[in-house]
Amino acid sequence: MARAFVTGWPIGHSRSPLIHKHWLEMHGIEGDYLRHPSKVADFETFIQSFQQEGFLGGNVTLPHKEAACANIEKTDATAKRLGAVNTVWVENDTIIGGNTDGYGFTANLDEFAANWCDESRLKRGALVLGAGGAARAIIDALMQRGFQKITIANRTLPRAIELREMFGKPCCAIAYQDIKDAERNASIIVNTTSVGMAGSEQENETPLSLNGFASDVIVNDIVYTPLITPLLHEAKTRGMHAVDGLGMLLHQAVPGFEKWFGVRPEVTPELRAVLLADLGETS
Ligand code: NAP
Repeated sequence: MARAFVTGWPIGHSRSPLIHKHWLEMHGIEGDYLRHPSKVADFETFIQSFQQEGFLGGNVTLPHKEAACANIEKTDATAKRLGAVNTVWVENDTIIGGNTDGYGFTANLDEFAANWCDESRLKRGALVLGAGGAARAIIDALMQRGFQKITIANRTLPRAIELREMFGKPCCAIAYQDIKDAERNASIIVNTTSVGMAGSEQENETPLSLNGFASDVIVNDIVYTPLITPLLHEAKTRGMHAVDGLGMLLHQAVPGFEKWFGVRPEVTPELRAVLLADLGETS
């Protein structure tokens, strides 16, 4: 039977099995997608021998994304740029690693904010909140789409500076308190921090106030628990265009499924409903 995995530690919370099992059923494929817990000490062995365990490939999540990049024979251009792998597959007996987080991010915006890459919006630039792992994939995707200015704001400024140095020219690094009118003219704000995430100490907070930002700004939060985070709630209250983070999770799964099972699946309202039900969301 064709099988794929998601590996990480811990891995019990992963919603990837819901997504891939839905597509397997939709396409009538006799296959499976399993959680495979790997501790740090076991990961290298697993990622180099998953074929012997009967897997076609799979997803790699925290804390192994960087280790996967270092331990796989071949990586695609995106994974190389990011130094992190979230999807592995086999071609001509070679294990290949890719990174589809940026694809998921852009496909979500293409679906829910079709004008987000208009010429004038690329010129006004983007404001990225946070400088962790997810921010890297998002900054890379914004650069690939041609954003001419990308401001990275982070609580810990040296981490934002590190990303500015990694990505170069269109990026600048800033502390929240130094955000001024130039940054408030950004055409899109992307929250990649965990502020506003259910269960965190800051679940009722926003990473910054949207006061003074352009009224046509697109506000995207990649946190999807809850679906409408406090930041998205504020954006909606101000009449701004709010885009939730669930679509990023769904779209990032598409390329992997296609590599393993040979069919390009679709992100449909039905799939979204399956995830929303699991998240306990009604909208
Ligand atoms: P990470 O590497 O741990 O980075 C966390 C970021 O949040 C850092 O920039 C950190 O700032 C900031 N932060 C944490 N607490 C903060 C606070 N109280 N005030 C201000 N900033 C704070 O995490 P990650 O892997 O990038 O993931 C970030 C979030 O994105 C998570 O909630 C994750 O679930 C979500 N995510 C969603 C998707 C999706 O498909 N929708 C994909 C990936 C991740 P410091 O540097 O100052 O600590």
